[in-house]
Amino acid sequence: MAKDTPSMAKNKIKRSLSAIIDPHPSEREITALWNYFDSSCVYCGLKMERKSRTAHLDHVVACSEGGNNSIYNHVLSCGKCNGDEKRDMNWLIFLKQKSLSPDFFESQKLKVENWIKQNNAVKIETVVMKEAEKIIKNALSQFDESVKDMRNLRKINTKKG
Ligand SMILES: [Zn+2]
Repeated sequence: MAKDTPSMAKNKIKRSLSAIIDPHPSEREITALWNYFDSSCVYCGLKMERKSRTAHLDHVVACSEGGNNSIYNHVLSCGKCNGDEKRDMNWLIFLKQKSLSPDFFESQKLKVENWIKQNNAVKIETVVMKEAEKIIKNALSQFDESVKDMRNLRKINTKKG
């Protein structure tokens, strides 16, 4: 069995606490997203197969900018568009850049807008997110303290012999 180092455990604590208030999409929601985007990259139109694992669920608003993990804050993207080209670029600017025709741009823009507006129903208020961050920070610093206490205890225990 793999060892859980304190830093790995910290990441798990963080992920598990944050998923309580901001859960990641379920398999069923991911299926709905694949259907809505017709198994195609929203930016370049590439058809993808779900089982090929080449597709990315691209955050529309990045978590670092206050975006949540709801399915309605994600679009379907190919790995090349999301991973290599778009990175942290705004989705609309990137879509404009990638679109080979104005028609493609307009229809994709509308498609994304209709999808992400459903996010309003599940959006987490900023004040709630701030509180969640505080709770997580507290849990992690308590854990840090416990790690320190445990290491001190080990020191005492090894000196004894
Ligand atoms: Zn693409």
